Amino acid sequence: MPSLPALASPPSAALDVLGVPGEINLDYAATAPCARAAADAVTELLPWYASVHRGAGALSRRCTLAYERARQTVGDFLGAGADDHVVFTRNTTDALNLLARSLPAGTTVVTFAGEHHANLLPWPRGSVRLPVPANPAGAVRDLAAALTELRRDSNPALPVLVAVTGASNVTGELWPVAELARVAHRHGARIVLDAAQLAPHVPVDRRTLDVDYLAISGHKLYAPFGAGVLVGRADWLDAAPPYLAGGGATSHVGPATHDVTWATGPARHEGGTPNLLGAVALAAVCAALTDADRVALAAREQALLARLRAGLAALPHVVELRTFGPDAPRVGIVSFVVAGQDSATVAARLAAEHHIGVRDGLFCAHPLARRLLDEAATRTGRRDLPPTALRASIGLGSTAAQVDRLLAALAGMA
Ligand code: PLP
Repeated sequence: MPSLPALASPPSAALDVLGVPGEINLDYAATAPCARAAADAVTELLPWYASVHRGAGALSRRCTLAYERARQTVGDFLGAGADDHVVFTRNTTDALNLLARSLPAGTTVVTFAGEHHANLLPWPRGSVRLPVPANPAGAVRDLAAALTELRRDSNPALPVLVAVTGASNVTGELWPVAELARVAHRHGARIVLDAAQLAPHVPVDRRTLDVDYLAISGHKLYAPFGAGVLVGRADWLDAAPPYLAGGGATSHVGPATHDVTWATGPARHEGGTPNLLGAVALAAVCAALTDADRVALAAREQALLARLRAGLAALPHVVELRTFGPDAPRVGIVSFVVAGQDSATVAARLAAEHHIGVRDGLFCAHPLARRLLDEAATRTGRRDLPPTALRASIGLGSTAAQVDRLLAALAGMA
């Protein structure tokens, strides 16, 4: 079984994660535990907690500053350009819905059927959903063909947005984001990256990847308290109706019903009192990750992932789900089934008998998960695979001992 490389220097205490002794959390892809950096930042700010953008008092001014600094830090972490907007949202779902509501009239959105529901369902009618490709090169080819056809058959002046994930929440497999961005731009389309599962594992930079927008969730990036982010080009966002009409989103409101001038910039879409603690927590983790040796962290996660996958492969009654094949690069997420056993029951037994938390179901990616379950049955020739799956996912603070406990528990369920 692959052993873990030692880190040259231990990650800073800011990236320790909080947990409960004895409980093994292998469900980071759903919600990651809280990093010390996030908890400390919130604790430090709480005595000062007051209104943002709405008060002249010292507390309020400090909170406004903390909120806007958080925006800057998160934007820098995600490679926002000087002209980009960094809009705080509740999570990735909210960020992608905001973008969906900001699309110019007549925009066609092109996605793949392998997406999380958050990147499938917000898009307007008439969107194009491409089949799940067999490999990353196929994704690039299929997108090029679809955009060529779309441009031939529709008004070339109408906008096209490609919406893709960076890492699958079902398999952890990486999608060829930079190549897809190149194809999109070659055809005059824009591209949004759903980085919910990518950003917790590797650096994600909007300008390096050359994507037009990207979305993340704080709670998957070790920063609870309910903040997410949409980063990207300003023009569509500034021209769109405000996502949340109300206080803070306006620059002028007159007496007549429609006498409103909406703000431009992030404020246009952040109506209402903002989530200061969420933003500050997220920024604290972004800053801690910026200071960390992310190459070493990723190498450690990959070794742990290899240990987990090798251990699962050695269990004859366990079958892994995958889209692109066994050797495709991936982050620390593995979905699998236990042949002949209901996945919800296995998850419940892991929790009750072994204090191990994993996810079961179709992972809010029903089209992909169902397809991969069918593929697993065909690949193995087994007729006793259950209709839903299990998912184990790891990250900061995960250990070989935790992985081994899961493997031992599954071994006992043959
Ligand atoms: N995109 C992907 C790839 C995800 O895995 C998830 C959540 O699991 C989402 C989007 C939605 O994230 P949230 O529930 O934080 O909005």
